[in-house]
Amino acid sequence: MTSGAVSIRNVSKAFGAFKALDDVSLDIEPGEFLTLLGPSGSGKTTLLNVIAGFERPDAGSLLVDGVEFITRPPHKRDLGMVFQNYALFPHMDVFNNVAYPLKLRRVSSSSIRERVRQALDVVQMAHLSARRVTELSGGQKQRVALARAIVFEPKLLLMDEPLSALDKNLREHMQIELKRLHDRLGMTTVYVTHDQQEALTMSDRVAVLRSGKIVQLDTPKTIYDRPNCRFVASFMGETRMLPVRKAGNGYEFAGRQLKLAQPPSAGAEQWLVVRPERLGWHGHDERDNRIEGLVVDVVYRGDSHSIALKLPGDHEISIRHTPVQDHPLPEPGQTLTLWLTPQASVLVEETGA
Ligand code: ATP
Repeated sequence: MTSGAVSIRNVSKAFGAFKALDDVSLDIEPGEFLTLLGPSGSGKTTLLNVIAGFERPDAGSLLVDGVEFITRPPHKRDLGMVFQNYALFPHMDVFNNVAYPLKLRRVSSSSIRERVRQALDVVQMAHLSARRVTELSGGQKQRVALARAIVFEPKLLLMDEPLSALDKNLREHMQIELKRLHDRLGMTTVYVTHDQQEALTMSDRVAVLRSGKIVQLDTPKTIYDRPNCRFVASFMGETRMLPVRKAGNGYEFAGRQLKLAQPPSAGAEQWLVVRPERLGWHGHDERDNRIEGLVVDVVYRGDSHSIALKLPGDHEISIRHTPVQDHPLPEPGQTLTLWLTPQASVLVEETGA
């Protein structure tokens, strides 16, 4: 499928005096898996609803394959939608739930049978075609909802937190399944989540929203490795932000000059982004960007130990010690020398460029 290009231009939407979307522009490539990621209330669902046609923006335009969609009603937008709560018809069996969009489109019954079977095959639910949806597990219901959303081969698939009602194992399994399904079917997909791990796992690109604005739009790797501001950095992973001081041409933390692979922006107020898994804490003392950490406690977690450390400036961070690491487990009260490579040492400002 080569169509399904979405172009959102200067879209704003207010509820009373509150700006839920504030001049948002975004181009989504045909076949792309794009995730809208942000904290609660950042405008993700509102933006998805604008694309779906459930919400009319106050200003701006929405082009799908070059055609203006803003005034077009939802049922004429050729969209597949999957919500958190499945929204299946409880009185119908699996087959009839999936057949519903085709019946609406007056597809012939022989073609309906064939297409429903194919869609159920894709989500591995063909064997439960006659089952009532009330007799399905959460993961099975979500698969039926997905089959119903793709059965009419929409140009665009919109999903709003579709996995958030599932338990952790099933959620992780469905993330991989959804990603594979997308790669196979190739339809443009816009996915809403507030779960950063989910966004990083599934997406071609991630748009991070804050207060109705997109603050960064990039690949998962760039968002994680090169966040463009303090907000994005602290939203990703288990991150600590250490304030650094301008010193000469560079910056220092706790009296030590930082060696950086990427030159920082010129802003006076900068933070060093510290991700626990990027911190080295054993080996040579002459490493770059050393930080002293006082071990506060060591907690057994089964597959590893979690070591809580106090850094200069009273910042706390937890690092992991796994049994395969051949150095001894530190003890509370001990001082560890932690270090960061210049590549892993990223400075950010409060707001992005
Ligand atoms: P969540 O992750 O909690 O679903 P979200 O990022 O999807 O959040 P939205 O649902 O888009 O956020 O809402 C953005 C803001 O707009 C919120 O502050 C919300 O209260 C407000 N809002 C959304 N819809 C309406 C409405 N119909 N009337 C008034 N305010 C609304």
